[in-house]
Amino acid sequence: MFKAFLIKYGEIGLKGKNRYLFENALRDRVAEVLKPLGQYIVSKEQGRIFVECPDDYDYEETVKAIQRVFGISSFSPVVVIDSSEWDTLTKGVGDYVESMYPNKNFTFKVMAKRADKNYPMTSPEICREMGAYLLERFSELKVDVHEPEVRLTVEVRNKSYIYSIAIPGLGGMPVGTNGKAMLLLSGGIDSPVAGYMISKRGVSLSAVYFHAPPYTSERAKQKVVDLGQKISKYTGRMKLYVVNFTDIQLYIYEKCPHDELTIIMRRYMMRIAEHFAEQENCLGLVTGESIGQVASQTMHSLAATNDACTMPVYRPLVAFDKQDIVDVAEKIDTYETSIQPYEDCCTIFVAKHPVTKPSIKKIRNSERKLEEKIDEMLEAAINSVEIIDIE
Ligand code: ATP
Ligand code: MG
Repeated sequence: MFKAFLIKYGEIGLKGKNRYLFENALRDRVAEVLKPLGQYIVSKEQGRIFVECPDDYDYEETVKAIQRVFGISSFSPVVVIDSSEWDTLTKGVGDYVESMYPNKNFTFKVMAKRADKNYPMTSPEICREMGAYLLERFSELKVDVHEPEVRLTVEVRNKSYIYSIAIPGLGGMPVGTNGKAMLLLSGGIDSPVAGYMISKRGVSLSAVYFHAPPYTSERAKQKVVDLGQKISKYTGRMKLYVVNFTDIQLYIYEKCPHDELTIIMRRYMMRIAEHFAEQENCLGLVTGESIGQVASQTMHSLAATNDACTMPVYRPLVAFDKQDIVDVAEKIDTYETSIQPYEDCCTIFVAKHPVTKPSIKKIRNSERKLEEKIDEMLEAAINSVEIIDIE
């Protein structure tokens, strides 16, 4: 019965002169998520996005796809009537109420919009007359203009558009309207959630994963690709840089104090991530770190990690409890994949008693022990990167 969707946006409406950039980004993103589902026509009009559906479209799939687009406050499925001639319109609205609301015991209000100012009735007249028609056709209905249970909107143009339900959107801002960042994506629970959250603020993503074959398996890498695919349903396509970290890790293991391993490894991850981030014109790095979650995420440890790079590091989960992170992971369907038991590189080389209050000075000193070969190794890791396109 619905042939179209009307999409409303919240936050992005506020952006003054840049508004059209946000609207275009939203329109393009909606078109992108619908493209695999059929020939939809997505257009921008009067502060909203309008989606016309192909004849044979799948309602549930379409709703699900639109629900994954950042920047939408709500959207409504719309019944389209090919004419705005009054008798056709009233009958159409009546039939809409008939099939949408089997139980007619509710209060309603008609809202009218008129694009065609030559239409023979004004908006208040349309509301009044349409209300009267509905009351006559369905005797159980009651009007409440202040707090109606159903707001029935009728828009009159060369065709007519009828809608009354609003499906909540995700909020946030359209991907790409706030630049780009490099996500350090591991196979765990946290980093996919971090990527989702930063992307919700309009940031598009590239990602980097460090693996350590043969200490980490092909399955562990596949898990990260799977996670990338899951979040790309929200964030849009992204490039995943897969970096072979084995030699660097072994070298650190050989030369540095074992209680500092994780921090030093993390610092080299940041440096390599920063390299690719610059190449991709990213404005920051993103991690799934959260204060105090593990030894490498105390305030001291985070400071020591930060010290290795100059780009801003965004940590959207910094103040989240684990359960709050798990809740989001479940909502975005990454949780089940994240808990598969394939280890990413860090779990193999962890020390029994890692430092929880590393001193930056000491860590820098320890890194001097790597001077002989580390530059060469970084270069080799960077040159041998594998790039996977995730869509
Ligand atoms: P996650 O659940 O995201 O794996 P975690 O709780 O296991 O996080 P750590 O393993 O300490 O925490 O990692 C902290 C952050 O460092 C991760 O959220 C991620 O952003 C980054 N990171 C860790 N290991 C890797 C890796 N192998 N490749 C890419 N990024 C990584
Ligand atoms: Mg992890």
